Amino acid sequence: MSELLYDCIIVGAGPAGLGAGLYAARDRYRTLLLDKFYPGGQINNTDRIENYPGIEAIGGADLTMRMAAQVKAFGGQIRTSAEVKAARRRPDGILEVITAKETLAARTLILAPGSSYRKLGVPGEDRFRQAGAGVSYCGTCDAPFFKDKVVVTVGGGNTAVEDTLHIAKYARKVYLVHRRDEFRATKVLIEELMDYTNKPGSNLELRLACTLSEIAGTQHVEKAVLRNLKTDQREELACDGVFIFVGTQPNTAFLKGFVDLTANGFIQCETAFLRTRVPGVFTAGDCRIGAAMQLVTAVADGVNAAMWMKYWLRDPGWWTEMLSEALTPSEW
Ligand SMILES: Cc1cc2nc3c(=O)[nH]c(=O)nc-3n(C[C@H](O)[C@H](O)[C@H](O)COP(=O)(O)OP(=O)(O)OC[C@H]3O[C@@H](n4cnc5c(N)ncnc54)[C@H](O)[C@@H]3O)c2cc1C
Repeated sequence: MSELLYDCIIVGAGPAGLGAGLYAARDRYRTLLLDKFYPGGQINNTDRIENYPGIEAIGGADLTMRMAAQVKAFGGQIRTSAEVKAARRRPDGILEVITAKETLAARTLILAPGSSYRKLGVPGEDRFRQAGAGVSYCGTCDAPFFKDKVVVTVGGGNTAVEDTLHIAKYARKVYLVHRRDEFRATKVLIEELMDYTNKPGSNLELRLACTLSEIAGTQHVEKAVLRNLKTDQREELACDGVFIFVGTQPNTAFLKGFVDLTANGFIQCETAFLRTRVPGVFTAGDCRIGAAMQLVTAVADGVNAAMWMKYWLRDPGWWTEMLSEALTPSEW
C-alpha cells in the first residue's frame, strides 16, 4: 500500500497553525493540522479581544472556531487530541511526525506549538486567571480593561518593565513588584521606568525586594499580599488586577534534537523566511525566536510560513539560498 504523504503537516492548531492551514489548504496543498487538544490555542482563554484589526471586539473561542471552519472549508484537515511526541527527517528527505497513535509523513512541516506563560504559583493566581477576574499575563492585550483601576504588576525583565509602562497609560495607580533591588531589563527601559516613576505625581510606585505571596478577593481580585524580603514585613495592596510577567515557556521540549532551540526553548529560525535548520521545516507563532507574542502576529507568521513553503516545494535549492539572493513573491 502506498504511503499517505501530506504536502504539509502543521503542528499546533492555534492562531499561527490556523493561519498557515488556511493558506496551505486554499493553495490546494494536502494539509493536516495536529493539535494536542482542540483548535484555537491560548487565545481561547480570553472572552474579549480588542486588537485584531477590523474586528472591534470578539471572544477568543468565537474567532478561532471561525478560523478552524474556514480551514476545513478549503479542505484542510484538523485532527484533535493528537499530541506530537517527536519529529524526524528520513534519509529520503520526507519528514515524519510521531503521535501516540501513528506516524505521519509530509513534504513540509510548520511547527506552531505556541508557548505558555510562566506562573508564579501563588494562592489565588489560578482562581482569578479566568477572563475578567483580574489576573493577566499580557499587558499589551489587557491594559485597556483596567482603565482608571488599581493594578499590581510583577517581574523585573523587559516584558515586566515595558508592559508596566503600558498599563500605567490606562490605570489610575500601578505598583510594580520585583523580588530584587535591581531590574534585569535593558538599560534604556530601566531609565524610562525610573524617569516615569520619579515624575512628580506619577501613578507608578515600585516595591523592590518584595514578592507577591497571595492574590485575594471574592468574585474578582480585590487585593495583593506582598512580603518584603529584607524586613519580612507584610503589605496588603487593595487592587483590581494583577499582571504577572515572569517569563514564557515555549512548548517545544518534544522538538529537542530535531530543530535548534535557544537556551529558553524558543525555535531558532531565519526570521525573514521562518525556516529552521532542517530543510522543509518552518516555524510560526509564539514558539519561535523574536515572536511578538500577539494573536495577529501569530496568524501572520502562519501565513508567511505557508507562503515560503511554496518556494521549498518548487525548488529545494531555495533552502540554502542566501537571504540577499532570495526572491520575493513580487518577483515571480
Ligand atoms: C488569556 C490570554 C489572553 C490573550 N489575549 C490576547 C489579546 O487580546 N490579543 C492578542 O493579540 N493576543 C492575546 N494573547 C496572546 C495570543 O493568544 C498568542 O499570542 C497566540 O495565541 C499565539 O498563537 P500560536 O498559534 O503561536 O500559539 P498558541 O495559541 O499557544 O497555540 C499553540 C497550539 O499548539 C498546540 N500544541 C502544543 N504542543 C503541541 C504538540 N506537541 N502537539 C500538537 N499540538 C501542540 C496547543 O494545544 C495549541 O493549540 C492572549 C493570551 C492569553 C493566554
